[in-house]
Amino acid sequence: MAESKSASTKDATKKPKAMPKKQLQHFEKRLLEERKRVLKELGHHSDTLGPNGEASDGDSSAYSFHMADQGTDAMEREKAFLFASKEGRFLWHLDQALRRLYKAPEMFGKCHQCGDEIAFERLDALPNARYCIACKQREEDSKKA
Ligand SMILES: [Zn+2]
Repeated sequence: MAESKSASTKDATKKPKAMPKKQLQHFEKRLLEERKRVLKELGHHSDTLGPNGEASDGDSSAYSFHMADQGTDAMEREKAFLFASKEGRFLWHLDQALRRLYKAPEMFGKCHQCGDEIAFERLDALPNARYCIACKQREEDSKKA
């Protein structure tokens, strides 16, 4: 009999497929728009986070050190700073979503819980959404309980 094509070459690799580039660009734009809006609300006039030269404790060298150090420590401090406010938290999630979009576009728009695609309308309204509606609902229900 004719030898059938070897099945071992292509089947095991079931890679998640990224959404069409056009859609990714759309959400990138949405995320950047939201980011700009929140930054404005937070009173930042640039992309730089942290106190704008206002050294509340009179020691400005601590801040220049903070700016020079872009390691995990700085990131943790940035996070702590951002998480102090609701807008800040939102900004953090927007940044995380942007990072996902750039670094792992095939994961963007997929539910972190069940892996399903998040509905376009939901992502459009909330581009930083990490869960599909069903999983989000379940999470909220468990919180209430
Ligand atoms: Zn889900």
